[in-house]
Amino acid sequence: MKKFFSTILIVLFSFIAVIARSYKVEDIPNVHLQDRTRFISNPDGIITPAAQNSLDSLMSRLRRSTSAEMVAVVVEDIDGADIDTYANELFNLWGLGKKDNNNGVLLLVARDSRKAVIRTGPGVEGVLTDAACGRILRNEMFPAFREGDYDGGTLAAVNAVAARLGDPEAAEEIRSREKDADFDDYSASDFLTGYLKISAMLTLVLGGVVLFKIISLRKKSPYDKYTAFENWRAPMLIASFGGLGIPLLVTIPLLLTMRFWRNRPRKCPNCGHKMVKIDEVHDNDFLTPAQDCEERIGSVDYDVWHCSNCGETDIFPFVNKSMPLVECDNCHARTAKLTGDRIIIQPTTSRAGLGQKEFTCLNCHHKMGKNYTIAKLAPVIIAPINGGGRGGFGGGGGTFGGGFGGGFTGGGGASGGW
Ligand SMILES: [Zn+2]
Ligand SMILES: [Zn+2]
Repeated sequence: MKKFFSTILIVLFSFIAVIARSYKVEDIPNVHLQDRTRFISNPDGIITPAAQNSLDSLMSRLRRSTSAEMVAVVVEDIDGADIDTYANELFNLWGLGKKDNNNGVLLLVARDSRKAVIRTGPGVEGVLTDAACGRILRNEMFPAFREGDYDGGTLAAVNAVAARLGDPEAAEEIRSREKDADFDDYSASDFLTGYLKISAMLTLVLGGVVLFKIISLRKKSPYDKYTAFENWRAPMLIASFGGLGIPLLVTIPLLLTMRFWRNRPRKCPNCGHKMVKIDEVHDNDFLTPAQDCEERIGSVDYDVWHCSNCGETDIFPFVNKSMPLVECDNCHARTAKLTGDRIIIQPTTSRAGLGQKEFTCLNCHHKMGKNYTIAKLAPVIIAPINGGGRGGFGGGGGTFGGGFGGGFTGGGGASGGW
């Protein structure tokens, strides 16, 4: 009885094994689709992992240097199909080779039927002729296969194909003009070049805008010119980083010009004598306590110009807008700080709400409340989420046949048995 069950089990397992080893064209796992660095489909493990790595890197290098799309498929059984027909179908299903010149190559091995084929796209046929494919199978691959060395035979065949396609003269002939989406470094450098171009163009526009504004301010005082550009400084510095330094060509001259406007020697409006700018330590003598408080907090910077001849003093405020301080109702210094925020009326979907911010003056300690409206709540809309996405296989009309360029074969190449 025990023997009977084990026999049943063995029969069952062999049956499953036979089923598992037989592949229809669409059942061959397209490993490249899951992992862009893989070019050999080896679902039955006929090729050892070490040889598989070598084959992947061989075909990856070939693709990088020539743009030719080669894959190898090594399986036990191809469902009793004619290997040539099978290879054509698989080649076209996966869309090997670039669309513009069909530079695909498929190496297919079916171990059970002891048959192999090298199938070529029209774009490589001139370099990898049918006769050459036949020779590669007979001379490079089959001798090793007869010895049971599937690693060696497959490696030798792929090496021979790569050597022919990699020949510099041949490489020029089979090279596709299309971009290869698999190699990020191509697109990354293209992206960088494009980015730099856009940055240069925007810098040119920025330069024009700055120049135009300077011209329109030509009748204004240096102080007015400086304050007109004060808000530009931070965005232009950010743009300079974002634009990879190119906008500095405008930003640096503008910053130097602003410095010049701010420090340019002034003539006394009263007596015409040359005025002196008082340094930050001594200018406090000329400021009110409120102004002094502003300077200490940093919300306003004051430039004090003094005429030693007639005693005229001119004070120019430079507001630091990045400080979150507002003007105090009581002492009018820009020293009121946000110390509280509360909602008085909750907003709903039908009416706006009301809030109140409380500020406390750091100079005179006066407290003040400022009301503000809170926008109506947006009605809740439940939007359907679009689940439509691109499947793995492009199918009809898609740009990707099966992770490759979308090329086809006219049936070039050679097949044979060992
Ligand atoms: Zn004077
Ligand atoms: Zn105050």
